[in-house]
Amino acid sequence: MSQIPTIELTSGNSIPQLGFGVYQIDPDETAGAVKTALDIGYRHIDTAEMYQNEAGVGQGIRDSGIDRADVFITSKLNNGFHEPDAARKAFDETLSKLGFDYVDLFLIHWPLPTRYGGDFVSTWQTLEEFRRDGRAKSIGVSNFQVHHLERLATQSDTVPAVNQIEVHPYFVNEEVRAYCAEHDIAVEAWSPIAQGKVLDDPVVTQIAEAAGRTPAQVVLRWHIQRGDIVFPKSVTPKRIEENYALFDFELSQHDVDALTALDRGEDGRTGPNPDTFDYIPD
Ligand code: NAD
Repeated sequence: MSQIPTIELTSGNSIPQLGFGVYQIDPDETAGAVKTALDIGYRHIDTAEMYQNEAGVGQGIRDSGIDRADVFITSKLNNGFHEPDAARKAFDETLSKLGFDYVDLFLIHWPLPTRYGGDFVSTWQTLEEFRRDGRAKSIGVSNFQVHHLERLATQSDTVPAVNQIEVHPYFVNEEVRAYCAEHDIAVEAWSPIAQGKVLDDPVVTQIAEAAGRTPAQVVLRWHIQRGDIVFPKSVTPKRIEENYALFDFELSQHDVDALTALDRGEDGRTGPNPDTFDYIPD
């Protein structure tokens, strides 16, 4: 079994640099996929209220027989619940669906600057309550741009432990990563293989061929060497295993730079722009 490095968060906790993401995994399939990942060796699961599969995550962990304390669990506040009372209720439900009395990390999923009068600060202050009462060991944000982070820095007391943002070779998101590096905010790279879109790129396939690795492994290893946290998603056991085998090879700096140079700027995004995204699920 390979050894997964951990990253120290400013909250004092540490997070495994590689985890398992469960976005778009059917609620009925989630417990099985999570148990498969845990059997392989993963100890970090990334879910969200929006994914509607928190119950399956909790079940998969219990089915694995692994101690709750040995698994790092992240969930995220759904977009409809930014007002403080709604956030408190939603967080209670997250814990009840997971079937545990704490999460390791709880995030504001999207800043939604065009909703709630642009007020994500009171939402953040509500997450600070969850951290104070110990039900969220760490708190952080997701999809926050530099100007959102700057606002939290001037209007609140806690620096987010992480910012979970879209990052992959077609969208390197360097401005936000640089701000996070400067302020000790760990970067979690979502859609790390761009939902598969980067895997056929000739630069990726050539590096993979030379390394005797798969395209997915090469791209995930690129994230690891750049210091970001990743949690690729798959329901296929063979791929879940493949995505875990990242710690017995290394890319040269030349290869890392060649993958970074695939950046397409804003055109490379696979997901929405956080400055305009305003989706609230039914
Ligand atoms: P991803 O980049 O992990 O790609 C997943 C897709 O790639 C899978 O559906 C599968 O078809 C394919 N795939 C996986 N492993 C493969 C392999 N070894 N070879 C070939 N194809 C493979 O995309 P994602 O699921 O969008 O992102 C990962 C996780 O990031 C999510 O599950 C979720 O936890 C998180 N996420 C967060 C946000 C956010 O707004 N915070 C947004 C999107 C995703």
